[in-house]
Amino acid sequence: MPSRRNLSCMPSTLAQRLLAGDRRALARGISLVEDNRAEGWQLVREIYPHTGGAAVVGFTGPPGVGKSTLIGALTRVRRDAGRTVGVLSIDPSSPFTHGALLGDRIRLGEHFLDPGVFIRSMANRGALGGLSEAALQAALLLDAAGRQDVFVETVGVGQAEVDIIDHADTIVLVLMPGSGDSIQALKAGVMEIPDVIVINKADHPLTDTMVREIRGVLSLANLDGDGDGDGDGDSDGDRSRETLVSGEHPRFGQRWRVPIVKTEAAHGRGVGELVERLEEHRAHILAAGQLAERRRRNLRGEVLALASARMRRRLEARLQGDAELERLLDEVVKRRLDPASAAMALLERVGVVEEDPALADRP
Ligand code: GDP
Repeated sequence: MPSRRNLSCMPSTLAQRLLAGDRRALARGISLVEDNRAEGWQLVREIYPHTGGAAVVGFTGPPGVGKSTLIGALTRVRRDAGRTVGVLSIDPSSPFTHGALLGDRIRLGEHFLDPGVFIRSMANRGALGGLSEAALQAALLLDAAGRQDVFVETVGVGQAEVDIIDHADTIVLVLMPGSGDSIQALKAGVMEIPDVIVINKADHPLTDTMVREIRGVLSLANLDGDGDGDGDGDSDGDRSRETLVSGEHPRFGQRWRVPIVKTEAAHGRGVGELVERLEEHRAHILAAGQLAERRRRNLRGEVLALASARMRRRLEARLQGDAELERLLDEVVKRRLDPASAAMALLERVGVVEEDPALADRP
């Protein structure tokens, strides 16, 4: 029979193996966080002090533009430079588990046998909001396991993907000639301006037209990507306050100009230039102190999201089969009580908010 001591040692053993870079421990750890198991959260607690070293790059963009191919090509370049790589491919729209998805990620296939590359797909397994939570924990595990570059790719477009990508140090939007919807989304401000824009499949005749269109959008946002160093004088307005910082980057001066990189991922063309732009972006945010700021903002979002998700789960568990909830719902259904007042009454009942005297005389 295992002693208490042995039991309590188990997670730290997994943590130690993971910190030593053991791939099996990493795979096991990601499964634990994916399944929302207590051991998974315990593992993250133990390894967390050892995170923060990885350069996390998020890739977003419509399906089919070549994100996986690009990440495959990028991984090759990074491996050639002697760096270790972790890839997380997130698919919120799929109910399938990692096994099924991996078969689909054939474009990363050449890297599967390389111990310096760890690839993992994560799909939505029913838990609402759980995937972005799990994906962020998985990224921490890759980081703790010593992966120097962590590439996070999302398949498809939607809020959950945006949430995950937002936590990257550098955000890359991948487009291809003809994917006009994305330009519209950029223009309309639906999509945040990314740090780097890639036009993949640049062998297409409409590539330069697309580059011009994107430059137009960026110059509207005052972030044009021509990299010629002009027009830096404007220092008024909120945008400038956000981007004008004390550090000075040799190429870009004080502010980051979003570069547009043309690639042909399938043939590895332009990938070297993309690596250069990614490194420049990292150097820029480090010199400007923005990395720390960005990470603080992201961690704030993560802490609040976790707190809200947990509160919601607790509330639901607490109210399971609750007669008072049913009574309040009856009142709402009969239009005698509005939904917001019912919600407040529930929160008072479980002690999350104090009783509101204005509502005290409600039925
Ligand atoms: P994802 O859905 O964004 O991850 O896109 P994939 O990486 O799966 O690529 C979609 C398709 O585009 C695949 O058939 C790729 O072989 C192809 N593809 C990727 N890069 C290029 C490229 O530079 N030129 C062309 N012509 N096709 C490419």
